[in-house]
Amino acid sequence: MTDILEKLKLYYSGKDLVVLNKAYDFAEKAHENQKRASGEPYFIHPCTVAGILVDLGLDAATVAAAFLHDVIEDTPVSEGDIKKEFGDEVLELVLGVTKLDKIEFTSFEEEQAENFRKLFVAMAKDIRVIIIKLADRLHNMRSLNYLSVERQQRMARETLEIYAPLAGRLGISQIKCELEDLCLKYLEPDFYEYLSTNVDERVKESYGFIDQVVEELNVMLSDSNIQGEVFGRRKHLYSIYRKMKEKGKTLDQIFDVVAIRVIVRTVDECYEILGKIHNKWKPVPGRIKDYIATPKPNMYRSLHTTVVTNFGRVFEIQIRTYEMNHAAEYGIAAHWKYKEKRTGDDLDSRLSWIREVMEWQGGLKDSREFLNSLKGDIYSSEVLVFTPKGDVIRLPKDATPLDFAYSIHSAVGNKCVGAKVNSKMVPLSSTLQVGDVVEIITNQNSKGPSWDWLKIVKSSGARAKIKQFFKKEMKEENVKTGRSMLEEEAKHRSVVLSDILTEESFLVLSERMSFSSEEEMFASVGYGAVTASQVVVKLLEFYRKNQPKERIITGIGYNKHNGGGVTVKGLSGILVRFAGCCNPVPGDDITGFISRGHGVTVHRKDCSNLKGIENERLIEVAWANQEADVYNAEIKVVGEEQTEILFAVAAAVKELQLEIVSTNGRTENKTGRVIVDFNIRLKGKDALDRLINKLKQDKKIIDVFRATGN
Ligand code: MN
Repeated sequence: MTDILEKLKLYYSGKDLVVLNKAYDFAEKAHENQKRASGEPYFIHPCTVAGILVDLGLDAATVAAAFLHDVIEDTPVSEGDIKKEFGDEVLELVLGVTKLDKIEFTSFEEEQAENFRKLFVAMAKDIRVIIIKLADRLHNMRSLNYLSVERQQRMARETLEIYAPLAGRLGISQIKCELEDLCLKYLEPDFYEYLSTNVDERVKESYGFIDQVVEELNVMLSDSNIQGEVFGRRKHLYSIYRKMKEKGKTLDQIFDVVAIRVIVRTVDECYEILGKIHNKWKPVPGRIKDYIATPKPNMYRSLHTTVVTNFGRVFEIQIRTYEMNHAAEYGIAAHWKYKEKRTGDDLDSRLSWIREVMEWQGGLKDSREFLNSLKGDIYSSEVLVFTPKGDVIRLPKDATPLDFAYSIHSAVGNKCVGAKVNSKMVPLSSTLQVGDVVEIITNQNSKGPSWDWLKIVKSSGARAKIKQFFKKEMKEENVKTGRSMLEEEAKHRSVVLSDILTEESFLVLSERMSFSSEEEMFASVGYGAVTASQVVVKLLEFYRKNQPKERIITGIGYNKHNGGGVTVKGLSGILVRFAGCCNPVPGDDITGFISRGHGVTVHRKDCSNLKGIENERLIEVAWANQEADVYNAEIKVVGEEQTEILFAVAAAVKELQLEIVSTNGRTENKTGRVIVDFNIRLKGKDALDRLINKLKQDKKIIDVFRATGN
C-alpha cells in the first residue's frame, strides 16, 4: 500500500499530490476495520484501483475519487464530508461510481448487454466515472477466487458482457484484454488451462523464429533510416479462444498467436515500412488492414498485415506510431496522460483529442456516433430504466410509468392502476429518470385506460395500444347502442328491426354504405357515423320491395293461420306473425320474438337475426297442428340457366304435390349464375326437406337452400 504513495510522488506534484495524499489518508481511516473476502484489509482495494488509474495516466481528481470510491457506500462517511474535504469535482465522481455500483444485472441477452452499456454511459455523465468503474471491476476480477463459485460465474459473465466491451469501446485495450482473460479463466477453466499452457509452449517453440523476424525488421528500419522499435508479443488468450470458437479451428490452425509490432514516429514511416515488409515477405491476400485511413470506432489506428516467410511461417505484423500505440493501449485514458492541465476542464475539451482525430478523418459516421455516445447525446432522446428483475427498458425521454407498462405488454398497460418507482408509489403521470426501477401495479378488475392517458403517455407505442383498446372496447359498446337505436327507429316506423334486417337487405345496404359486417353497421350507428334513420329507411325500402306479403294472424291462445298456427306459451289473444327473414314452416325449431307493440314474431331458432337478442324478449312458441296447416316457405335455387331451374323445380313440386306461389329470378354479376327464389306452399318441414333433397340430386342445380336465417 505504500507502493502507491511512491507512485503518486512519481507522477503528480504540487497541489495534486497534496490532494492525493489526503485522499489516501482519508480512505485508509474510513475503511480502517474492514476486510475483503480474501481476509486482507479492505483499503488494499481502493489503493489498487487508484494505482491502475495512475498507470493509465488519469488526472488527480479521478485518482482521488478512486481512493474514495467505496466510502459513501460502505462507511459512515457522508457526501457532505467528501464535499468539504475534496470539493464538488471529486464528490461528483464518487457519487457517479456509487450510482453505477447499485446497478444489478440479471439478464444477459445480447441486446440487453448493449442496453446496459448505454445505460452506463448515460448514467455516468462524466466518462471518468466509467474509467474508475472499469479499474474497480478489474481489481475485483483479479481477486475473484475468494468468492463463491456462483458469484464468480455471475461476475465473470457480467464482466464479459458489459465491462470488457465497454473498455473496448473506450479503446482501453489493456483493461479489456485483462478482463477478458480473467473471465475466460472463470467461465471456461479447462479451456483456459489448456490455452495458457499450450499457447506459451508454442510461443517458446517459435521464439527462435520470432527473434529472427524481429531482427530482420530492425535491420529494415535502420537500412531505411527510420527510428523505431520492434516487439514480439503473445496475443491475449481470450482473442485466441474467440478465434478458435468462431472459426472452429484448433490451436495449431491459429497462426497469429504472436503479434509482431513495429512502432515508428510518423504516419509516412508506417506506410514506408509496410511497403518494405511486403517487398520482403509475401502478404496473405485479404489480411492487409489499414486502420490508419479508417480507424476503428474506438479510435484504434494501426496497419495490419499477415505475411508468409520464405520457410513457410505465417505471422501478423502491426505497424503504428508511438502515439497510435499509446492510444491503442490506453484509449480514451490516453488523453489525460498527455494533458498539461489536469483538472477543471469540461467533458468537451477532455474529448477534444478524439474530435481532432475525427475531423481529420473527415467525419466518419461510426466515429461520430462513438463520440456522441461518450457524451450521452444520442441517448438524451431516450431514458433507460429497469424492471424489478433488472431488465433494461428503453423509453423515449420524459416517459411515464404508463409508457413503461405498455412497453411490457398491452395487457399490463390496460390493467395498470398504479406504479412504484424505486419502491415508492408515484403518480402515473410522473417522469421517469435514467436508472429508475419501475414496478407496475395491475388490477384485473380495472376497467382499462382512461382518455386522459392519451395525454400522459410519451411513446407512440403506448398511444397506439390505448387507442386500440378504445377502438375495441368502444366497438362492443357501440354495437349495443347502435342496435337499440336501430330497433327504436324501426319501432317509430311501425316495423320490427329483425323483420327488415335480413341477410339480403343487409347485403344491399352494405354495398351502399360499405359495412363489412352487421356488427360494424351497429357500431357505426352507435358511434354516430351514420344515423339510425338513414339505415332504417334503406332497410325498409328493400323490405317493401322484396318481402312477400305479411301473413298476419290473430288468435286466442291457439293462433291459427291458413288453418294452422302456433301457440304462444302463457299468452292468449296476441298478434302473431311469421318472420319474413327466415319463413318458418311446421317442423322447424321456432321461437317467438316479442316485438314492442307488435305482438310476437315467430322466427326459426337458428335465424341469424335472433343472434344477440336478449333472452327477455324471446318467448317459447310451438307449432299447434303440424299436419293440417299449410305454409309458405322460401327457397333459393342456384343454377346455370333460369329455364332449367324452373323446369326442375316445377317437376319436383308436382311430384311432391306442392304448389309454387311465386318465383323471382336474377343473375349474379360476379359468377354469372342464376338464382331463383321460389315461394312454395307446403305442409310442414318434412315436405320442405323432401323438396330440397330432391332438387339437390338434380345435376342441373348447383345449390338449394332456405332463404336467410343461415
Ligand atoms: Mn470498489
